Amino acid sequence: MDIQGAQPAPPLEGQIAGSSGLPSTSLAAHQDAGVSSSFINTFLGDNPYFQAGFGLMGVGVGLTILRQGLVFSTTALRRRLLVSLEVNNKDRAYEWFLAWLAHNAQSAPSSSSRRAQSWLRSHQLSVETAVEERSNGSSSVLFRLVAGPGTHWFKYDGAWMQMKRERETRSMQLMSQMPWETVTVTTLSRDRHLFSKLLAEARDLALRGREGKLVIRTAWGIEWKPFGQPRRKRPLHSVVLDTGMSEKVEQDVKAFLHRRKWYADRGIPYRRGYLLHGPPGSGKTSYIQALAGSLSYDICLLNLSERGLGDDKLNHLLSNAPERSFILIEDVDAAFNKRVQTGEDGYQSSVTFSGFLNALDGVASGEERIIFMTTNHIEKLDPALIRPGRVDLSVLVGDASPTQARTLFTRFYGGSESVTAQEVVERMGKRVEELTTDEMRKGRRISMAALQGLFIRNDAQDAVKALPELFVETRT
Ligand code: ADP
Repeated sequence: MDIQGAQPAPPLEGQIAGSSGLPSTSLAAHQDAGVSSSFINTFLGDNPYFQAGFGLMGVGVGLTILRQGLVFSTTALRRRLLVSLEVNNKDRAYEWFLAWLAHNAQSAPSSSSRRAQSWLRSHQLSVETAVEERSNGSSSVLFRLVAGPGTHWFKYDGAWMQMKRERETRSMQLMSQMPWETVTVTTLSRDRHLFSKLLAEARDLALRGREGKLVIRTAWGIEWKPFGQPRRKRPLHSVVLDTGMSEKVEQDVKAFLHRRKWYADRGIPYRRGYLLHGPPGSGKTSYIQALAGSLSYDICLLNLSERGLGDDKLNHLLSNAPERSFILIEDVDAAFNKRVQTGEDGYQSSVTFSGFLNALDGVASGEERIIFMTTNHIEKLDPALIRPGRVDLSVLVGDASPTQARTLFTRFYGGSESVTAQEVVERMGKRVEELTTDEMRKGRRISMAALQGLFIRNDAQDAVKALPELFVETRT
């Protein structure tokens, strides 16, 4: 735009008057019009400021059109070329994905499995604390940095991906009171197949981390959430029950698991209830956990005295337990004393006895449901609770029998390479068995938990010496 070249030319009045053949009035009017148009011309057309403004406006309009065109084409391109995957924190894949990202971003560069590379200029990190249990039983606390809310970039299998983690702060999940979170991963359309690959890898990593581990869940509102880190599975044989008892329960559960079709064909709800009763410290809880571990099941621990738990929530929880899990209700006698649900501190929750029975019966769905209940006082239980259909197998897990005492002793002190040492342990184990038999004749018993405590604190000889003092009068 050349502003200087737009200088106004002087008006040529003689030319206008001389060239016109109009009457004088119209000539005057015409002259007026000529004057005003020349004025407008002078003011607008020939005014350098106006021309400059007009030029600038043109540039502005041009830029706006260009910008809108750009926005439009970017959106169109994004729609055509990019593909996004959204995962929210209600889905299990959410945790898996974050853990996978953290794992890969932190693994050594030489690692062949290193597909995701470190986040680029990621300033928003969150910390996750994990307790890692070692095989010798000790544990250490680990901090893992995961991508915090914000935008992150990573490369997976040669493709760049943008990951956006967003947290909804204005609303919470109704029952768990956790904020809603979403992760959106975006990449080029041609790489969309990588999403399923990535998710499968994240799932495998999560499941690998759980291998040999038992997950315990507790109720969070109407949802089941893992309680602490997965713990190491306890071998089933390490819980020493009386002869044949462990096998009996294990076989019953396995038979039930193989009879899904049988139940479906007969229209019977596919559920089974177990009651393990007996004195405290006899291994009821330990056994249920070990059995769940051996079948690769999880445990859903239900506390009927929990505040805020009502009949409806209980029903929902029992009907919506995660697949492959045992529901464990401990000390069920304490929960329903005289049909009124009372907590240890006298708190009465709103779960009613009839509500509990209804929840146990549940709706006749095809979903598998295995419930384990434990009690130290079977005599206190209402007969309605232990009728078949609610409790299908009831097992007494008692104090240490002579055989159990001997087996536990051998488990603690045996295992030596040397044959002579083994023989000594075997001989002493026999002695433990005899001692236990004698004491039992006198009506005195010892719990397996007390025996375990004795064996942990003493060497074999001292344990055998101290054993008789630990027997107590049979409880009534
Ligand atoms: P309960 O549920 O019957 O009260 P637990 O399972 O809580 O008993 O056992 C308490 C402790 O005693 C656990 O550490 C467990 O290892 C040990 N214990 C109890 N019974 C046995 C058993 N039969 N075999 C091995 N250990 C046992």
